[in-house]
Amino acid sequence: MRVLLSLGSNRGDRMAFLRDAIERMTRHEAIEVTAVSGLYETEPVGVTGQDAYLNLAVSIETAMAPRKLLEALKSIEQAVGRTPGERWGPREIDLDIILCEDRVIEEEGLRVPHPSFRERRFVLAPLMELAPEAVDPVSGRTVADLANDATVQGTVERVAIAL
Ligand code: ADP
Ligand code: MG
Repeated sequence: MRVLLSLGSNRGDRMAFLRDAIERMTRHEAIEVTAVSGLYETEPVGVTGQDAYLNLAVSIETAMAPRKLLEALKSIEQAVGRTPGERWGPREIDLDIILCEDRVIEEEGLRVPHPSFRERRFVLAPLMELAPEAVDPVSGRTVADLANDATVQGTVERVAIAL
């Protein structure tokens, strides 16, 4: 199953946290990283007065069930060094599952498609590079269609990637 992920960091050495998270995904035996988007500097949405984020999208192939994948991603967040903090507050690393093909999951602690991805330019802009044709099974719209919607919130700037 192809799964599209959104990664973000707005604390400390943001690029190092993102790189470490991608490396740990690559090394995970049940995850194959197939594509990584460009890097975007984005304004925080929801909470004001926070530092800017670096965001990118990653496409993976996995046979893991979404719940198992979420557990793996939470372990990677911990290993990378996410410290507990306010929800939507500054974080070293945030790994979110955005789309799992045509799966719709509404469970305690796991919602796929990610419930707010349609309104977030910082998710849609990088995702657009990897999977413009991917269809959101809830709205029936493609990522390209969603990304081109003028009502999407936040400003993003594509920046040079420093690997
Ligand atoms: P944020 O909503 O800002 O990403 P957190 O990263 O702290 O906040 O995540 C809070 C909880 O969101 C996680 O513990 C996780 O169980 C839950 N969650 C629900 N759906 C998803 C999803 N699609 N991807 C990642 N986490 C999810
Ligand atoms: Mg999260």
